[in-house]
Amino acid sequence: MLPHPLTGELFDSPVPPGTGWPDDPADAGTPVARNSSDVVRLASRASSLAELAAEVSVCRACDRLVAWREEVAVGKRKSFADQPYWGRPIAGWGDPAPSLLIAGLAPAANGGNRTGRVFTGDRSGDWLFASLYRVGLANQPTSEHAGDGLRLIGARMIAAVRCAPPANKPTPDERDTCAPWFRAELAMVLPSVRAIVCLGKFGFDATLAGLQTVGYDVPRPRPRFGHAVEYPIDGPYGEVTVIGCFHPSQQNTFTGKLTEPMTDAIFTRALTLCS
Ligand code: SF4
Repeated sequence: MLPHPLTGELFDSPVPPGTGWPDDPADAGTPVARNSSDVVRLASRASSLAELAAEVSVCRACDRLVAWREEVAVGKRKSFADQPYWGRPIAGWGDPAPSLLIAGLAPAANGGNRTGRVFTGDRSGDWLFASLYRVGLANQPTSEHAGDGLRLIGARMIAAVRCAPPANKPTPDERDTCAPWFRAELAMVLPSVRAIVCLGKFGFDATLAGLQTVGYDVPRPRPRFGHAVEYPIDGPYGEVTVIGCFHPSQQNTFTGKLTEPMTDAIFTRALTLCS
């Protein structure tokens, strides 16, 4: 067992549910999805975001992703060798009644998979949360670990695939197996959501697919991803505007494809749509 970097409590890697990890939504009695049918069943009957988050966080439906997330959690990157790794799926996080939703691809193997919070503990997250803080959507500019006091203001983050995939590439089967969790969360928060910022093409396409399955009038042919593209889409809870944003990966930020002013402009625009 190793000490949590903030609380000093000792944890195994992966972290068993309900053992005291900050913001762990599950406990030892949370039902575990072991295949795609279980995901469909549990996601469709979840009656609250808290129940959904708990069930997502213990899911074991994708053999390859479960093996990978746990292998990374045990092996650890050298620079984090003294830390316990969460090693479980990453639930949606943020305001339970958001006006802005931020949709990404999947957690990073040594970021969310280590810290237990989406976009937390890696360079992409550093970039993203600094921007959210600058425009007033977060109460602090960094996101280092679950339990660090960070709060999103009127915003929530969700990933299309909830486990870290090898090479950041889930298979189509894995994407489809995880989709009911994504759709269930979308359906629960959409009544308050006015804008969705999609980080990268994968998150953009998953969001459109999710909106369609919960009754939104997604145009055909499907809108195409691009940076700063905007698509207003009508649905059962009114209009929501889907906005594309280049993913804040190091590949994009180091090369200048995505700059800080570009990122801030996306969230400033989203805030305008939400006000
Ligand atoms: Fe479950 Fe999704 Fe992780 Fe697959 S990717 S094991 S469906 S949480």
